[in-house]
Amino acid sequence: MKPVQTHPEATQALLAALGSEKVKTDEATCFAASFDNMRLSFMPEAVIRPGVEDDIGTVLKLANQYRVPVTVRGRGTGNTGASSPIHGGWVIHLDHWDKIEIDPVSAMATVQPGAITAKINELAAPHGLFFPPDPSSLKYCSIGGNIATNAGGLRAAKYGVVRDHVYALEGFLPTGEKVRWGAPLRKFVSGINLRDLWIGSEGTLGVITKAVIKLVNKPLARRTFLLACRTDEIALEAAAKLMGSRVNPAVFEFLDTQTVEAAEKRRGSRVFSTDELKGNNETHSILLVEIDGHPSVLADDAKKVRQWISEYAVAYRETDNEAEAEALWDIRRTCSQAMYSLGNAKLNEDIVVPFRSYVALIKYTREIRDRIGLATPTFGHAADGNFHVHIMYDRDNPEHCKKAEAAIHEVMKKVVELGGAITGEHGIGIAKSPFLRLQHSPAEIQAMLAVKKALDPNNILAPGQIFDPLNVWEHRPVKVTLAWDKH
Ligand SMILES: Cc1cc2nc3c(=O)[nH]c(=O)nc-3n(C[C@H](O)[C@H](O)[C@H](O)COP(=O)(O)OP(=O)(O)OC[C@H]3O[C@@H](n4cnc5c(N)ncnc54)[C@H](O)[C@@H]3O)c2cc1C
Repeated sequence: MKPVQTHPEATQALLAALGSEKVKTDEATCFAASFDNMRLSFMPEAVIRPGVEDDIGTVLKLANQYRVPVTVRGRGTGNTGASSPIHGGWVIHLDHWDKIEIDPVSAMATVQPGAITAKINELAAPHGLFFPPDPSSLKYCSIGGNIATNAGGLRAAKYGVVRDHVYALEGFLPTGEKVRWGAPLRKFVSGINLRDLWIGSEGTLGVITKAVIKLVNKPLARRTFLLACRTDEIALEAAAKLMGSRVNPAVFEFLDTQTVEAAEKRRGSRVFSTDELKGNNETHSILLVEIDGHPSVLADDAKKVRQWISEYAVAYRETDNEAEAEALWDIRRTCSQAMYSLGNAKLNEDIVVPFRSYVALIKYTREIRDRIGLATPTFGHAADGNFHVHIMYDRDNPEHCKKAEAAIHEVMKKVVELGGAITGEHGIGIAKSPFLRLQHSPAEIQAMLAVKKALDPNNILAPGQIFDPLNVWEHRPVKVTLAWDKH
């Protein structure tokens, strides 16, 4: 599909200002910047790879002058269509701005937004440091995208999310002025904190060009436990019990029986042998627990975990050996792709519920499965209630699509009813825009829109994202293979 030039005069002015090396209008470049992991394509008119920071000011000033929508793109791994230019216009693509400087004394890193998250950890490791927020996409996503979505990861329960690890941001207001929020200091309380307003704002309030992030001492030791529980309910009751015991797991993952069944099928082997399961060959629910820290504290916590395991698990394994730990992680790493044996398309909702609602949530997902006949495998972070509820369906079957669409609305309503959140890490983008008003009152939405209007009076940055409910079912996903599909 050729890019349609709906702002030809503006794009000409842009080309004149920045040159054709930095501004591309060809079909291939525009197509590559038209979708993220949600795979709904909306073609931009031009893709800009800025050379120097001031280029961004120039782009935004021109966009305001000509009223051209602008979308910022990191590495396009987002799950919600937030970096898709749904109203066309220009995309600012920042994947080439990927410098990382580690300051081991301050335990800080100064990073450009396109830096790949895993690379930050690679460079921090020789100094005994790491950047704890670790989305599963960390080998592919950018720190700019992480900050703009306030990404979380497997270690969020103990170490927190991206917001807990940002000291300072630099960048441009939607109107094109350069700003700095915070400073490379451990303490900074001057003025109203707009740094935190940018974090998680999904590219709607500014363009991040630099960040100073907090690094943390790498734990000296870790111990991994993998256990099977007879049912999902037992596993979830166990999860709440462990959290109440004051053990502070760095990783605590839950895989329901539907997920385990699909993952074992993909691996071609059971996680626990019949002997380990004492002859009970039914599919079990699985919990993966990792504790880390100083070896002396770890020994004490490990005792508590073993005691807890003896109350709830049918079978378990544990290790403090890196290679063996990797083997215990295999089932968790397999589950995302394994689901495609249950349907060729998936809705992946990263909802959050409080501990008291864990069991009610899992029962509800099974109730939906039984009622509509589509698989609802669920896995996720048992320490903070951030579960990935999936609905697997056949994208080419209109009946399936109708059922999946209705079911996801029901799940979202239920989550809010249970005291939860419609998203815990992916953000709203376009994917969850139809549900925003289930979570927030009209007054809350008005307040958010007032902030947006104050910073972006011409609605230039990511217009339509978050607030305008978009019927995603009217759009067919593009058939592409992305780098992370293989993992
Ligand atoms: C296999 C897989 C696993 C995943 N696992 C997780 C997970 O465990 N936890 C999690 O939180 N997410 C996860 N995600 C989602 C995704 O990786 C994160 O949302 C990530 O933070 C997006 O980074 P990105 O560089 O790809 O951003 P993009 O997708 O390019 O953009 C995401 C948003 O950030 C904005 N943005 C990007 N750069 C800037 C900038 N410089 N200035 C302003 N706004 C900007 C965009 O406009 C958009 O709104 C996963 C995705 C995949 C494909």
